[in-house]
Amino acid sequence: MYQLPKALPDELLLSRLIRFITISGISSSEFLQTCFGSKRISLHPFLTSGLSSIAKVCNEDANLLLKEQTLAPLFCFFLPAHSQKLNRMMFSNNGAKAFRASQLASFGSGRSLGLKLCPICVQHDLVTHGVSYWHRSHQVPGVDTCGYHGTDLFFHNLTQRQRLIKRLLPEHGIDIQYSSSIECKVARFSNRLLRLLETSDRIVKITDAYHYFLKEKGYLTHSGRVRRKVVMQEFCQCIANHSEKNPAIIPRGHTDFRYISQLLGSGSHHPYRHLMFCTWLIGDVCKISSYSQELSVDIDCSAEKVSRKESIADKCLAFLKAGMSMANVSRETGKSRCYIKRLALLNNVRINLKPKLLTQPVVDAIYELAHSGFHRREIARRCNVGIGSVEQIISNSPGLTERRKLCHFESTRRKHRLLLFNHLNFNINATRKSVKNDCSAAFFWLYLNDREWLEKTLPKAKAPKGRYHRGD
Ligand SMILES: [Zn+2]
Repeated sequence: MYQLPKALPDELLLSRLIRFITISGISSSEFLQTCFGSKRISLHPFLTSGLSSIAKVCNEDANLLLKEQTLAPLFCFFLPAHSQKLNRMMFSNNGAKAFRASQLASFGSGRSLGLKLCPICVQHDLVTHGVSYWHRSHQVPGVDTCGYHGTDLFFHNLTQRQRLIKRLLPEHGIDIQYSSSIECKVARFSNRLLRLLETSDRIVKITDAYHYFLKEKGYLTHSGRVRRKVVMQEFCQCIANHSEKNPAIIPRGHTDFRYISQLLGSGSHHPYRHLMFCTWLIGDVCKISSYSQELSVDIDCSAEKVSRKESIADKCLAFLKAGMSMANVSRETGKSRCYIKRLALLNNVRINLKPKLLTQPVVDAIYELAHSGFHRREIARRCNVGIGSVEQIISNSPGLTERRKLCHFESTRRKHRLLLFNHLNFNINATRKSVKNDCSAAFFWLYLNDREWLEKTLPKAKAPKGRYHRGD
């Protein structure tokens, strides 16, 4: 029996296995032989099958491995027709069949197999956990952005047939680049959907969900047909600044009606197409959860599934979801408005407050400005809201604070570099000492934060004048 290292947040099963063979001294072929009875088994990075065998040998829960450490739940969600087969194959020792059931090969994703990493997540994981690891949410096919930090994911090509390789963990020191805001939104949606699927057992038929939300937003005619022209126009406008690294998953233009007809049909499509469309149409993952709850109430309302939630927090959330005003919830539960507001924000529940200023378009505008690095005061002035509201929205958006910190750092660095550069240009005879005296703030900031650049840019140090010169 083997003991795998404890799963870190959002960690991929393959990552845990790699960490295990790295620290235990057991070779990958020994591990595979014990688990599967063959050294030649090749593990898929995000659809790692043979879960029953792994769970048995490592004393783990196979269902938990499937739901929390592979991408199978995401594929099952978008491919309900193949979900049963995929689930079955994931537990079996037949990786090739599991991969075929995912339909990924037929989508023409145009990329070889690999693992993706976010350089900021690597830094964060090394500081927080003392080890870097492969995140499950980064491996979603088509997603090239970190849903936490909005950074471009770095692709590590896996050339060997065997992917269980000792010490194959993300390395730090990779350049940080940021993706467009739409790619960040899709990645964030994908993260939240993965988290929702971890806990949800209900099977939602994605095409039914699309019809429900299209109807809710007025994209269906009276006879129930989809207003494809408007849908395509607005969808393409929303994804206008999406990168075109993988053209196969992006519509060819707002007249590419086949794109939408295919998605709304029953065929199988690349999960990223669905993710992009869901981000535009549904926006908030919680709506999927409320939609599936509504479905289950419709199906068995006779069973009176209105469960009596014991804790006050659950009671508050249930009242809010039922559309009760904040004042009424406060009266019913005896909790303060501040407590209820925070609870609602943490659980992504809309408050029936009819906000005068902080409407959804204003919240979106605040997010966009904050994402671009504007100062909180300037955002508050432009959107005509208080600084407190801006701060609350920033702190409730995962990864935004880190991104803003980095923007601020880069901006300060540019400012100080320019100051020093100008000083040296106007003073040809400047020495290191004169620079230190004349632009001391820039000098010391760069000395502490950007020493390599400073050393390269400063004039050469002069040899110290000794008190006693030779020959004097
Ligand atoms: Zn990240």
